[in-house]
Amino acid sequence: MDPVTSPTQPPEHITPPPWPDKTPPSAPGTTPVSAPTPDPARLPTTDAVRARMSRQRSKDTGVEVALRRELHRMGLRYRVHRRPLKGIRREADVVFGPTKVAVYVDGCFWHGCPTHATWPKRNAEFWKNKIEGNRARDADTDRRMAAAGWSVVRVWEHEDATTAAARVRDTVIARRAAG
Ligand SMILES: [Zn+2]
Repeated sequence: MDPVTSPTQPPEHITPPPWPDKTPPSAPGTTPVSAPTPDPARLPTTDAVRARMSRQRSKDTGVEVALRRELHRMGLRYRVHRRPLKGIRREADVVFGPTKVAVYVDGCFWHGCPTHATWPKRNAEFWKNKIEGNRARDADTDRRMAAAGWSVVRVWEHEDATTAAARVRDTVIARRAAG
């Protein structure tokens, strides 16, 4: 395979610019928008898009770490990066096994956040399909999880960690009470 065009080659030599199209919220206590989720997608055609992909989310984004820290501070104990459903690659970011609560932290770009979604003009159709595909997959995950008796909490990358953690805690407590 031609190494230049191989889709497995990660974008290189890119200096990531700031968040490309919109400024993240600057209100006090608001977590800044950062690093989108990883994706081996193969159409990095502009510097902005390449940069976005090169900053692909590794396992632990700022918001995810902040959320976990906050949950821990609340006295909650959990596991990270688990697949709640056997045989399905839908890894949750934070998992409360006994109460069957799974938390997914969704990147604003990749999951089409209503506040920060940006729609690249180059290869617009590709990105539209990509992001809408992710959203459809999220909805499908939620359905499968619910069918298997799980409660799903979705947290946007831009959300304040304390607020998000409180939502998670409330869900866990409610499940404990119900169980
Ligand atoms: Zn957002």
